[in-house]
Amino acid sequence: MKNCKLYLNIAGYCMAKGSHAVKGESPKDIPFKALFGLIQHPEKGWILFDTGYTRRFYNATRFFPNKMYALTTRVLVDEKDEIKSQIENAGIHCDDIRHVIISHFHADHIGGLKDFSNATFYCSQTAWDQVKQMSNFMAFSKGILKGLIPEDFESRLKFVEEAGSKIPDAVFGHAHDLFNDNSILVYNLPGHAAGQIGIALQTQTRKYFLIADACWDERAYLEMKLPHPIVRLVFHSWKEYVATVSKIQRYHELFPDVWIVPAHCSASTDKVIRSNIDLNVL
Ligand SMILES: [Zn+2]
Repeated sequence: MKNCKLYLNIAGYCMAKGSHAVKGESPKDIPFKALFGLIQHPEKGWILFDTGYTRRFYNATRFFPNKMYALTTRVLVDEKDEIKSQIENAGIHCDDIRHVIISHFHADHIGGLKDFSNATFYCSQTAWDQVKQMSNFMAFSKGILKGLIPEDFESRLKFVEEAGSKIPDAVFGHAHDLFNDNSILVYNLPGHAAGQIGIALQTQTRKYFLIADACWDERAYLEMKLPHPIVRLVFHSWKEYVATVSKIQRYHELFPDVWIVPAHCSASTDKVIRSNIDLNVL
């Protein structure tokens, strides 16, 4: 694979029950940190994988029905936590971000979209089709706040299936080579959300597989410890979710050296996130 540079950190978090993430765990609230990846590609420049929370969440949930989202999910994010502030502190301007890969459309992954007005957006066609079909009224019940999506989103959108050539994959059937240069491979990881995707990339030290919410806790693919059934209410398809976790389990068996990073699993992310942007660590 062609090497990229990678930096991982979080942009805000929410509180959720530990027993929802893994059935049988303590019901105590645990932080669900909103992970994002800042990638430096040798030719394509700055790329983001997901965009975390921003304070726009509070505005987008001021009124019913979206207010239900805020009432059931305590979100904590302030200005300094947003990706915009984080990258500007490191001398990177929001307009320098040329590509944004969206794993899925939940609010903790698309909060920053409106900050990157020069970027091309990438997602799966399935994910976008579902967002489009959903009424503004019902979207919140699936974790989607349409107000976080830029007005000109569709004119800047490329579906990963069209952008990247399809390459065969032993575990997932196929992947999409996003820039057709073997630098970023996009995998379908549906279940938690419709058309959710993850990416694999190679850095100077190892290969990383950013799987977003394909599972919330690494024990899902390590020990098949799955979330509490109550989360099925917000998941797109439990059947697809379990199939995806099984594939990640298989992938991990075949490629134990690849660092798999579920977005909200502290045990996984605490080892790889840094509070100051440094592209030479991971
Ligand atoms: Zn999430």
